[in-house]
Amino acid sequence: PSPAATLDSARSARPLPSTPLAVLGHDVQVPLANGDKVTYAALDYAASAPALQRVWDEVAAYAPYYGSVHRGAGYLSQLSTDLFEQSRRTVAEFLDLREDDQVVFTRATTDSLNLLAGAVPAGTRVFAFETEHHASLLPWAHAGLSVTYLRAPRSHAEAVAAFDAALAEAPEGPKLLCVTGASNVTGELWPVAELTRTAHRHGARVVLDAAQLAPHHRVSVRELGVDWIAFSGHKLYAPFGAGVLAGRADWLDAAEPYLAGGGATRTVAREADGSVAVQWNTGPARHEAGSPNVIGVYAIAAACRALGEAGFDALEARERALIARLDAGLAEIPEVRVLNLFGADAARVGVLSFVVRGWNSSHFSAALSAEYGIGVRDGLFCAHPLVRTLLGDEEAAPSECGAPEPSLPGERSLNAIRVSFGAG
Ligand code: PLP
Repeated sequence: PSPAATLDSARSARPLPSTPLAVLGHDVQVPLANGDKVTYAALDYAASAPALQRVWDEVAAYAPYYGSVHRGAGYLSQLSTDLFEQSRRTVAEFLDLREDDQVVFTRATTDSLNLLAGAVPAGTRVFAFETEHHASLLPWAHAGLSVTYLRAPRSHAEAVAAFDAALAEAPEGPKLLCVTGASNVTGELWPVAELTRTAHRHGARVVLDAAQLAPHHRVSVRELGVDWIAFSGHKLYAPFGAGVLAGRADWLDAAEPYLAGGGATRTVAREADGSVAVQWNTGPARHEAGSPNVIGVYAIAAACRALGEAGFDALEARERALIARLDAGLAEIPEVRVLNLFGADAARVGVLSFVVRGWNSSHFSAALSAEYGIGVRDGLFCAHPLVRTLLGDEEAAPSECGAPEPSLPGERSLNAIRVSFGAG
């Protein structure tokens, strides 16, 4: 069977549990190469999830009260400031933060992790598995910190043991692990609570990259024990442009502000010698200089409320059913190899990457879009070391399955195809 036909029959095989979340962008009619039109299936939620209808509605309802925050004495400014600060509390509740944790609004996960990289004490050694998304792999060395890159583990137990051994050998001083909660390539969940317990036993701290976890799973910072968490609004069914870094205040308050400018300052005074002396704020304001993305922040809070009300039990059940259906459909296609680190049965969210033996992944993805109206992503998904490890040499064999040849005969897959979806 053709891959798309298999996916189609898999789709209609069983009714799915429904959720009250309505997303935008799924009833878009697109023309196909053969002149037909289909309803486009945008299966690229891991890159950016379509925003919820309810989020747009809430943002539209807020529009008449639009005003600058933290600056104006007028009614609209006051109201806007209230809604902005209420959004901070909504995010704190959504993440189940500890009493004294801070919520700092950023542009997205990449921004959050770069902010933290600039805020950790000098001399901090950072640990990261080479399997991380570039946003959680790269900011640390970029900020001049020493980084220990841990090899790709093949099980949760191996991950925890490798981290434990690396910590045991590490010199004295502050230490930080950056780990993803759910992989943006394989969708697999990582043993965050176990890694955090291990870190704390050695006096190290943990930042959780929850860009892919938070849209799919209930997250409790209190239960996981992580010190910081980062996520992006545009992957959590809100529009682009706003994100979150939340967690312990001490390192953030002691650090230089992420950006210098208005809002981050308590006082700025001209000194007698002609210099300018600055007293910086503590708290979230210290790292939120400049006019914030009020609409983006408000939209994140709306998405948190919508997900909370829909309930993660229902969302996860629906997503598990979708995952099972996709797995079953792909298993019927012998040329498909699904990529995973922890084995086919490992728990994961609705993100899955595969290669099709004999096919160039980019051509295959283009054909899915042009001929079937299925929008996936192909590439290395901003996690080059991980995808290269997962591809290995197996795909180096020339096509032998009767499928069309790769674009260069004998070429192995240099990239993969990713399907990702959510509960909405
Ligand atoms: N971390 C993970 C696991 C991701 O999947 C992504 C985006 O794909 C990021 C971080 C970066 O997120 P953003 O592009 O919103 O900064």
